[in-house]
Amino acid sequence: MNELPSIEQIASCVSGYDPNALPVAQAQEFIARFVTPVAAVESIALRATLGRVLAADVVSPIDVPAHDNSAMDGFALRGADLAAEGDTRLRVVGTGLAGQQFDGAAPARGECVRIMTGAVMPPGLDTVVPQEFTRSDGDVVVIPAGAVRTGDNRRLAGEDLARGEAALTAGRLIRPADLGLAASLGRAELPVRRRLRVAFFSTGDELRSIGEPLDAGCVYDSNRYTIHGMLARLGVDAIDMGVVRDDPAALEAAFRAAADCADAVITSGGVSVGEADYTKQTMAKLGEVAFWRIAMRPGRPMAIGRIHAAGPGSKAAVLFGLPGNPVAVMVTFYAFVRDALLRMAGAAPEPLPMLSARSAEAIRKKPGRTEYQRGRVVRGADGDWHVSLTGAQGSGILRSMSQANGLVVLRHEQGSVAAGERVDVMPFDGLV
Ligand code: AMP
Ligand code: MG
Repeated sequence: MNELPSIEQIASCVSGYDPNALPVAQAQEFIARFVTPVAAVESIALRATLGRVLAADVVSPIDVPAHDNSAMDGFALRGADLAAEGDTRLRVVGTGLAGQQFDGAAPARGECVRIMTGAVMPPGLDTVVPQEFTRSDGDVVVIPAGAVRTGDNRRLAGEDLARGEAALTAGRLIRPADLGLAASLGRAELPVRRRLRVAFFSTGDELRSIGEPLDAGCVYDSNRYTIHGMLARLGVDAIDMGVVRDDPAALEAAFRAAADCADAVITSGGVSVGEADYTKQTMAKLGEVAFWRIAMRPGRPMAIGRIHAAGPGSKAAVLFGLPGNPVAVMVTFYAFVRDALLRMAGAAPEPLPMLSARSAEAIRKKPGRTEYQRGRVVRGADGDWHVSLTGAQGSGILRSMSQANGLVVLRHEQGSVAAGERVDVMPFDGLV
């Protein structure tokens, strides 16, 4: 663990690194350099690999499909037999069924074979005319001019996957099509990285857990629930460690236990600049932690680093110290933590797709920070995407997030937005 690059080493690689006014893009670059993937690999049953990270390329041992075959029910023929003008008349000399080799003699010129979808193309034949384009005349099939061209409706051997080709590459988050693709190669198991373990807890004396009475001045802890949900969607093993009081001994015990059992630790609260509690002190005491002020809204304060279970050299975990405000927790998770956890899980995350939508309203925005507003994006009668904000956008107003179906991402350099102007929207579908 000691050979991992230090915060100073990584900071020196990120151009213009300033922990007190860090642009989102630089924070993302820092984090991508800071985290390393888990090494352990396990081989598991194909169905169970859904959502896991593939640990090695899956190379096709066979051509898929193995033979040239028909894409339609109809008649297999030789393209060279098609008449340039007028009907083509071919004698039907056999039948090709799916799952069987054609066992007749190779058809001669002027002959064709009745064939089913998926059946192997008889030798010498290269084209299939769908049944519905033809008519029968005794043992002769009549094909009108222009019904097919040479090569139509024939699937080529290896057109899906050629033998020796990587069907799936390492780092892929396995999706339904990948299960099917691996199955088409006859793979019963796949090697995947072990599941990432992520421990999380909330900090703050004002927090109460569900089931406890809500004393004066207190709020129920909601961050552990949104974090639980976001982690569950990522497919990691999430370890909920509850609420930790703002007490040095309790915080230290919690951080050590979390570092001991998990690859990553997520906390919320207590990282604001000038915060008069022990969270930051304890983080700094147990490891190597940078405290950032990010040029973003919401979610300005954040801590990132590595904390140890039992002193230097002992087992370490990556720490994400998120702000306390409920919307800021979700926004910083999606802006930074999600990508970092995917990288730690061994995945090669792709940038999330964005919609370009017209803003229904004017939005005030200062250049020099990235803003994440909550919006509802809908398709208008004009075929374009239109987005409206979900009411008050305070960083504590979780309802703005709950009612949204996407984040309006106002870029670092961007200024105020006029009504009707285009903005980027990161849809929640696919993200959560
Ligand atoms: P902090 O970052 O600790 O200063 O917290 C900022 C705001 O977020 C305060 O109003 C806290 O009460 C609130 N907050 C912190 N943690 C939580 C939590 N787990 N659930 C709900 N609100 C929280
Ligand atoms: Mg606090």
